[in-house]
Amino acid sequence: MSHLEDISLKVEQFYTALDKDLTTFQTQAKYSCIAGCSKCCTSPNIEASILELLPYAFYLYKNNSAEIVYDRLLLNNSPICNLYQPLQTTKQKGGCSSYTHRALICRLFGFSFTRNKTGESTLLTCTTIKDTYPKISESLNIQAKKGLSVPLATNYYNQLTDIDYNLSKQQFPINEAMRLAIEMILNHYHYSEPFGEDIKNAS
Ligand code: SF4
Repeated sequence: MSHLEDISLKVEQFYTALDKDLTTFQTQAKYSCIAGCSKCCTSPNIEASILELLPYAFYLYKNNSAEIVYDRLLLNNSPICNLYQPLQTTKQKGGCSSYTHRALICRLFGFSFTRNKTGESTLLTCTTIKDTYPKISESLNIQAKKGLSVPLATNYYNQLTDIDYNLSKQQFPINEAMRLAIEMILNHYHYSEPFGEDIKNAS
């Protein structure tokens, strides 16, 4: 296994543990996203690091789609995440087209906390959740200020930094981070053939 594959695997393991933490938190806090919402996916300000998108880039490579998506991203000037698929039919809601590979903020938003300048933890969430669950979000903020153990976004970003400082230190607009991650994987296999073919065949 190459160093880059090893790093990507560590990010996947980190995502699995993180998702478990946030599911436990959601269950205990008794709230969730509104079914079919995906409003936050349409934000033009989503950012991510290259490291966060490495598992997605590997996934594309293994499925012979890396070049296609890379070319699409080169031509795409939209600030909206390339993975977001708007409403398709009245039955099939829009949303993330590669949910397993979504970036860190997409996992944390709605169900984690940030610390303000005075060190108080505040729920990092949207107005939809605040309006739907006003009592729960208010109560969570009060409990967090009193010392309740809550998932802190910065802790998770620090864990990514521990996996690879250089690939996590800079945040890019989401589509740029995606493009750079794919470019890295394509370059990686371009210079390490024939192992690249082995990886594709193994999937
Ligand atoms: S975090 Fe908020 S805006 Fe995003 S999908 Fe959930 S409810 Fe909708």
